[in-house]
Amino acid sequence: MTVDRFARVRQQMQAIGTDVLLLSVGPDLPWLTGYEAMPLERLTMLVVPVDGDATLVVPRLEAPRVVEHPDRFALRPWEESEDPVAIVAELVGCPASNARLAVGDKTWARFLVDLQAALPTATWRKGSDVTGPLRAVKDPAEVESLRRAAAAADRVAAQLQGGDLALVGRTEAEVSAEIGRRLLDEGHQRVNFAIVATGANAASPHHEPGATVIEAGHVLLCDFGGTMLDADGVGWCSDITRCVSVGGEPPTEVAEAYAVLHRAQQASVASATVGTACEAVDAAARQPIAAAGYGDRFIHRTGHGIGVEEHEDPYVVAGNATPLEPGHAFSVEPGIYTPGAWGLRLEDIVVAAAEGPDPLNRADHALVVVDG
Ligand code: ZN
Ligand code: ZN
Ligand code: ZN
Repeated sequence: MTVDRFARVRQQMQAIGTDVLLLSVGPDLPWLTGYEAMPLERLTMLVVPVDGDATLVVPRLEAPRVVEHPDRFALRPWEESEDPVAIVAELVGCPASNARLAVGDKTWARFLVDLQAALPTATWRKGSDVTGPLRAVKDPAEVESLRRAAAAADRVAAQLQGGDLALVGRTEAEVSAEIGRRLLDEGHQRVNFAIVATGANAASPHHEPGATVIEAGHVLLCDFGGTMLDADGVGWCSDITRCVSVGGEPPTEVAEAYAVLHRAQQASVASATVGTACEAVDAAARQPIAAAGYGDRFIHRTGHGIGVEEHEDPYVVAGNATPLEPGHAFSVEPGIYTPGAWGLRLEDIVVAAAEGPDPLNRADHALVVVDG
């Protein structure tokens, strides 16, 4: 699996004219090797020449955590008295090297600045130019990893909808923490976020769950996701949004808006066939919402790609003409937000497949009434 990723990476480097790929902290390194670099002042960096052996430059004290794959990369542990930037520059062929380098997008600026000083004649581009298009297209095993994570998130959504979580009288922060615990109980290794927004707070799409107490008569928006590891130690993300009406039927105005939102979300999912432009999938969600008069209350793009990161290519947004390919995985999450009153969003992860759109999330799409 990961061996194959190395081959695809080198192919892409060849295609865009990159001599060496440098990966440090961030999701590209674990995606490629199964090893996640510690976010430390001590540099960890994988050096991948387009035609030559890869080397993982790693602090001596972190080396025991590396699962070694000598067929894929050599290990170069560095001692506290050594200069890791000099070691990387040496591997690239410093200092006269005119190498065309790609460096991982989330590499700390302090290391990049030092590397640029050590390699003054090299040229630089973003690592995502190499890894982005590869990571965006999931192979069947990767789709299954995303499906497992989505199914675990679905179970938590079903618990919310089934009334297993106490809601009335608790704060958003308390319910958020409980959703996080349940994500872990259902098999995630990491909680990435658990937005819980009640009543008017839900009008802010990325509301930070806080001290607001959930009351009967509120509509509660919950948007949560985590990371689930596969057999190679590579993490795959889940992301789902469901709203529930706490302690009784929602007000008519909210129920009507939700019906529009539900239709828009389903139309957008159905539109996500191979070959369709990302922006057309966005338009398919936006059109019914605008037709119902809520156009100015849908204040964000329809979705984002998902994989080893919660947000990655492809983005489902106006202006992105990228046609969907089999294996593209992304969220479809339109929302309608009325400041000072309420907010609604409905989100599934969907994979574009030859047979048609493949929604990974199956939790009830209705605005379920829970006793609280
Ligand atoms: Zn978001
Ligand atoms: Zn979400
Ligand atoms: Zn999302």
